[in-house]
Amino acid sequence: MSTPIIVQKFGGTSVANLDRMRNVADVVAAERDLGHHVVVVVSAMSGETNRLVALAHDAVEEPPPRELDALVATGEQVSTALLAMILSQRGIPARSILGYQMGLRTTGAHTRARITEFDRRTFDQAFAEGTVLVAAGFQGVDPEGDVTTLGRGGSDTTAVAIAAGLGASFCDIYTDVDGVYTADPNVVSNARLLEKIAYEEMLELASLGAKVLQIRSVELAMKYEVPVRVRNSFTRSAGTLLTKEDADMEGVAVQGVSLDRNDAKISLRRVPDQPGVASKIFTPLSEAGIVVDMIIQNASEDGKTDLTFTVPKTDLKQATRIVEKLAQEIGIHRVETAPDIAKVSIVGVGMRSHAGVATRTFSVLAQEGINIQMISTSEIKISVVIDEKYAELAVRSLHEVFELHKEPKARTSWT
Ligand code: ASP
Ligand code: MG
Repeated sequence: MSTPIIVQKFGGTSVANLDRMRNVADVVAAERDLGHHVVVVVSAMSGETNRLVALAHDAVEEPPPRELDALVATGEQVSTALLAMILSQRGIPARSILGYQMGLRTTGAHTRARITEFDRRTFDQAFAEGTVLVAAGFQGVDPEGDVTTLGRGGSDTTAVAIAAGLGASFCDIYTDVDGVYTADPNVVSNARLLEKIAYEEMLELASLGAKVLQIRSVELAMKYEVPVRVRNSFTRSAGTLLTKEDADMEGVAVQGVSLDRNDAKISLRRVPDQPGVASKIFTPLSEAGIVVDMIIQNASEDGKTDLTFTVPKTDLKQATRIVEKLAQEIGIHRVETAPDIAKVSIVGVGMRSHAGVATRTFSVLAQEGINIQMISTSEIKISVVIDEKYAELAVRSLHEVFELHKEPKARTSWT
């Protein structure tokens, strides 16, 4: 049998300073001692990418995306070189490698490029020599030869893409938490660490604001069925395994509760109920790059209807300006905005086969006197928008009623 390949990705907090990089070197050494081929992918030292982005915005009002990428990609160049030095000194042959050096090609969409390919020869050669390659995450090179970046948190995606391309046994994402929990442990004190979670569930949780992994990395892992483990580089926990849905998971109605405070709500009152109106409203928003999440349209009365939707809080001002301009043109009676909302969601592939999850969700919120402003559901998710004041109460109540603190086998059968 060929030697297993393990891709280890270390996030910003794991490489925040030289001491932590020495700790990372220990983690790399331990994996190598097991006889595995190891590839390391690093993020920039924590805070560095933010610092560089701020610097660019101090320099000019609107940094050109090409130069912004050239600038922020340097964060990973620093951490990759430092870690390679530390590994070498520790007696582990290591070499830093940047995006272009591994032939990591991307689309030309600066600041949010997508990986198209990379050259595995460099890696095979390093395996043959016994050298650990320390690859810079987050960066690549476009068809023009320009440096690109993959969007914030993009090192996760670099790691998963490399793991997929190399057919790695595991892609270990090392961070500063023990893995994926049933809820944010800062909100729910008895939240439970999940041993495994289905890709689809993780995708929902990631997009619902549980910021453990970049969404794109989960999509890639799901597509290529890469076994991803989210682990703690400090405690070296076994972590949480992302994997294909299995029979155990189907038996669990709810895997986790997530909380997203990043959205705001816009309501348009008395919108003419005519063909083409929705397109007139949402086209300019999407052209402005504003991502609309939930949309609700009420039944119409005397040819008018109410339309409510959510946008990222950071885009609220711009979105309001756009719809206010349209209000006159289309004949919308009033535009109302509410920044103080939160989206609480429960997720689980087992929802497909468990009836009554929605009813139980709504009744627990009712018991707590929490008003539901919007609802959206998918096969494996129920989301409600509520007043931000009650967000944590809602999360705790749902966690409690679905007994998420207990092992699935120990839960009351109806949960
Ligand atoms: N350094 C980049 C960021 O902060 C990429 C990453 O950390 O994954 O977004
Ligand atoms: Mg990250």
